[in-house]
Amino acid sequence: MDAMSIFTAIIAREIPADIVFESDTIIAFRDIAPRAPIHLLVVPKTEEYANVVELAAGDPALLAEIVSVAKDLAREHADGEFRLIFNTGANAGQSVFHVHAHVLAGGLSEGSLGEE
Ligand code: AMP
Repeated sequence: MDAMSIFTAIIAREIPADIVFESDTIIAFRDIAPRAPIHLLVVPKTEEYANVVELAAGDPALLAEIVSVAKDLAREHADGEFRLIFNTGANAGQSVFHVHAHVLAGGLSEGSLGEE
């Protein structure tokens, strides 16, 4: 049996996280290593999709729900403006293969889309 993803462990409350939103289908919590004043992760509870390409093909309504939750959280935690990032593949910086959106907000000073 595969080990559960770190995000499934958070959903199961097996490891702690600063949870900011939860519904039947989605959980959102603060990234443990924030790269912006507000850095949240929006994660579907299902482990079925490794990345956003699989999610878009398999359940586009759930992808739309993630975008909607990101919008609401950016309004709640910042000024409503945000950057939404789905790292897709290890060479693009993905380290957890359970699809998740990074919501960056709160005054992003740099305009680059990559790091460094
Ligand atoms: P990615 O590199 O796109 O797969 O994003 C994974 C993100 O998960 C990284 O930004 C990590 O800082 C974050 N992360 C890893 N473990 C935890 C955790 N236990 N709680 C919150 N965020 C985490």
